[in-house]
Amino acid sequence: MHEYSIAYDIYATARRAAQENSATSVTTIHVDVGEIAMVNPEQVVYLFKLIIEDDPLFSGTDLVCTTVKPVMTCSCGNYSGENKFVCPSCGGLPQIVKGKEIVVSNIEIEVNES
Ligand SMILES: [Zn+2]
Repeated sequence: MHEYSIAYDIYATARRAAQENSATSVTTIHVDVGEIAMVNPEQVVYLFKLIIEDDPLFSGTDLVCTTVKPVMTCSCGNYSGENKFVCPSCGGLPQIVKGKEIVVSNIEIEVNES
């Protein structure tokens, strides 16, 4: 399932970051979800909760998804914006520059100071 591998990737990324920083727990993970990434953020959050269930490092971790507007540009060079279907300048089909990806933007962790 598409959403499962995304949720697992987020988990793996956060886990690596937590270990690199000797974190005692991961409190919040912020994820940018492109509007045209074709994923259901609620599904990702649900699956993420299942994945972290047995990992004490992630007890009580919040996964916050932020939807990111797409950015398209046209090969005519006169258009950059959100229009996915037609370039207002030349009528061509714009290309996706941004908005298709799922990116972990920020990970909040707790570190044992002692
Ligand atoms: Zn154009």
